[in-house]
Amino acid sequence: MSTPFPSDTEDDSQTIQSTPSTDRKKWKANVKVNRSNKSHTTFFFRIDENNSEVVYCKVCERNFSGTHQTPYPYSRKGGNTSNLIGHLRDRHNIIKSNYTEYLNEHQEV
Ligand SMILES: [Zn+2]
Repeated sequence: MSTPFPSDTEDDSQTIQSTPSTDRKKWKANVKVNRSNKSHTTFFFRIDENNSEVVYCKVCERNFSGTHQTPYPYSRKGGNTSNLIGHLRDRHNIIKSNYTEYLNEHQEV
């Protein structure tokens, strides 16, 4: 008089699989990736007041102050800052690991 099919346990495993709770958690985690794309270049570049996609190097601006030279405008179109990072590194020896040495306590150049 024993039942050959343990239908009770089969039902349990099915209900667990059909709950999408784990999938939802993954979704939330993915959305949170957009935490901060701020790089150290934001401290050293000033955004043009007429065009938010154009930035000027503050270090160059300070070096050129009192002269008629103007800093080269850089485009940060599409959020690409690799050319800005390259400028800081090649012209001013500023890299991500030492940039704080070039800022004062107000995080200014
Ligand atoms: Zn510069």
